[in-house]
Amino acid sequence: MPKDDAGRFFKQLPKHPFNHHTGPVDIKENDMPQPINSQLRSVISWFDTHVQAEKESAQSDREKWVWPIPFVLLNLSVLLVFVVGWSWVAIGVAAFFYALRMFAITGFYHRYFSHRTYKTSRWFQFVLAFLGNSAAQRGPLWWAAHHRHHHRFSDQPEDIHSPKQRGFWNSHLLWWSRRKNVATRLDLVPDLAKYPELMFLDRFDSLAPISVAITTAVLGGVLHRYFPGLGTNALQMFIWGFVVSTVVLFHGVATINSLSHVYGSRRFQTTDTSRNNFLLALITLGEGWHNNHHHYCNSTRQGFFWWEIDITFYGLKMLSWLGLVRDLKPVPARLLTREAPGAVITGKLRPHEVVPNHESPARAEPVLQGLPRLSAGGALSRSGALPHSAALPHFAALRSPDLPQA
Ligand SMILES: [Zn+2]
Ligand SMILES: [Zn+2]
Repeated sequence: MPKDDAGRFFKQLPKHPFNHHTGPVDIKENDMPQPINSQLRSVISWFDTHVQAEKESAQSDREKWVWPIPFVLLNLSVLLVFVVGWSWVAIGVAAFFYALRMFAITGFYHRYFSHRTYKTSRWFQFVLAFLGNSAAQRGPLWWAAHHRHHHRFSDQPEDIHSPKQRGFWNSHLLWWSRRKNVATRLDLVPDLAKYPELMFLDRFDSLAPISVAITTAVLGGVLHRYFPGLGTNALQMFIWGFVVSTVVLFHGVATINSLSHVYGSRRFQTTDTSRNNFLLALITLGEGWHNNHHHYCNSTRQGFFWWEIDITFYGLKMLSWLGLVRDLKPVPARLLTREAPGAVITGKLRPHEVVPNHESPARAEPVLQGLPRLSAGGALSRSGALPHSAALPHFAALRSPDLPQA
C-alpha cells in the first residue's frame, strides 16, 4: 500500500479519544456507539479492545466472567497435547515461537516501548510492535502503560500486580483476567499514542496472535502433506506451536511480576521488593535481573555484569550491528564500581552493605523539566506540581527528540 494510502486508511478508522493539542482524553468520554448488553460488549472486546467496559461498580458479573474466557480456554487447551501426540518438529516450532516472542516481549515491549532504552526507525518500530503483539499479551500501548504504572507505584497499594500487596496468584495471572484492566491508559503512553499504526495494533490486538496460530496450522498441514515422515499435522502443530508456546510464554513472562518480586537476591535497596534471580533470567532471556532493573531502568542491558546472562541484550546488540536499532543506552559506570556513589556490593549482602537507591526520584527530576506533568490521578497537565512518585527516570524518555517521526 502506498504511504499516503496507508495514512488515509488508518485515519479513516473510528477515532480513539486522543486529542493532539491537549493530550489523551479519558477513555470513558469516548462517544463510540455502545453494544447492546454487557456480555456482548465483553465478547466484542476480545477483538476490539477499545470497546469500553462499564464502570467497575456497574459491571455485571457476566461481563466480568466473559472477558477471561479465551485466556482460560487457551490454558486448558494445553491438555490437548495428549490427544494430538507429539513430534520433534512440533516441539522445535514451539521452542522457536517461545524464544522469538519472549525476545519480542522483553526486547521490544519492555526495553523499547516501555522504557525507550534505544532508538529505531518508524517502520522497524512497527515490526517490533507486531512481534511483541504476536505473543498474545495485549497491544504495545496497553503493555507499556501497565508497565510504566508498575514502575511508578511498584509494590505500593496502587500496583495492580504486586505480590506484596495482593498475593501471588493475583500478581501472576488474576490481575490480567480482570475486565476492568482491559482499557489502555493512554495518559501513560502519550509518546506512543501519536502513531496511528501502533494505535491500530493496540486496538485490534488479537490480529497478530491469530496470524501466528494460522501460520502454525498451515505449516503443520504443509509438512504433513510433503514430509509425512516428520509425523506432524496441522492440529498437532497448532497445539504445540501456538497453544503450548503461548501459554508457557505467558507464565514465563508473568514470573517477573510474581516470583521476581519474591525469590532472589537484592543488590540495590530499592523501594520495592524486586530481586535478581538467575533462573528467571534464563527463562525470560534476561528479565530476571529485576532488582538491577528497578534500580536503574534506563539502560538497555539488565544484567549489569558479564556473568549476569542477558540474552535479550545480546540479541539487541546484534540488531544494532545490522543497523536496525541504534543508540543502546549503557549501564552508567557509577553502578559498576564498588567505590563510586551507588556502588555495587556483590556476593551475599550484609545489612550494612545494602546499597541505597541512588537513582532516586530527586536525582531524576531535573531531566523531567519540559515534560507534560502527570497528576496524581494520572491525567496530563502542563502545569502544577509533579508528584514525587511520577518522577521516575523512564519518563525522561518521553521528551526524546529522536523518536521516529510521526
Ligand atoms: Zn517489578
Ligand atoms: Zn521495566
